[in-house]
Amino acid sequence: MKDTYRHQGLRRQLIDALRQKGLRDERVLEAMLRLPRHFFLEAAFAEKAYQNVAFPIGVGQTISQPYTVAYQTSLLEVRKRDKVLEIGTGSGYQAAVLALLEARVFTIERQEFLYQKTKTLLQKIGLKGIRCYHRDGYKGMPEMMPFDKILVTCGAEEVPEALKSQLKIGGILVVPVGKEGRQKMLKITRLSSEEYNEESLEDFKFVPFLKGVEKL
Ligand code: SAH
Repeated sequence: MKDTYRHQGLRRQLIDALRQKGLRDERVLEAMLRLPRHFFLEAAFAEKAYQNVAFPIGVGQTISQPYTVAYQTSLLEVRKRDKVLEIGTGSGYQAAVLALLEARVFTIERQEFLYQKTKTLLQKIGLKGIRCYHRDGYKGMPEMMPFDKILVTCGAEEVPEALKSQLKIGGILVVPVGKEGRQKMLKITRLSSEEYNEESLEDFKFVPFLKGVEKL
C-alpha cells in the first residue's frame, strides 16, 4: 500500500472542501488529512477515494462519506485515552480516524466477512489501539462498559437503550435515528444515571442498523 504525493494532494483538497462545508474541528480534519482513505477501499474505487462520496465495501455495505465521518467524529469530542465504542466497523476507516485521535477503540461488526477483512487490514496498516469484534452491536459491550463515547455508524429506527446505559456519566452517544432510510443525527449526553440530554441535528442516509450477526 502506497501513499503518493498525488494521493496527499487530493486528500488536502478533500479536507479543504469539508472545511468549506462548515466542518471546523481542526483536530478531526488533521487526523483525516493524515489517513490514506484509499487504503480502505477496493482497488476499483481507490482512484475516487478522495471524493466526498460513500462507496460499496462488500455484502451490501458502504464506507461512510468523508463529510459524515468528520461530522460524527466532531460531535464525539474525542479526547486522548477516551474509551470509544463504535458500532459498524465496515471498512475500518472511521475506527482508524478515532485511533489517530488517540482514543482506545472497540469496534463491533455484525458481518463476519467485514470483521475478518478489516481486522486483517488494520493489522497490516499497523494502527494501534483498535480492537475488532464480530457481534451484534445492539447489545453494545456490557463487559467493557462504561464508555466515554459511543458512535453508531448505521441508521437505527430508535435509540438503542442498551447503548445509552453503557455510557459514563458525562459520556456522549452519537447515533443516526429515523425510519425509511433517512435519519436525524442525535447527540445524546448522559447527565446522571437517569438523565440524558438529547440534541437533534442534520439529516443523513445510513445503511440500516440490523439485529443479529451474519456468518461467512
Ligand atoms: N464505520 C464504517 C461504516 C460502515 S457502514 C466505515 O468507516 O466504513 C455500517 C456498518 O454497520 C456495516 O458494515 C453494517 O454491517 C454494520 N452494522 C449494521 N448493523 C449492525 C449491528 N447490529 N452490529 C454491528 N454492526 C452493524
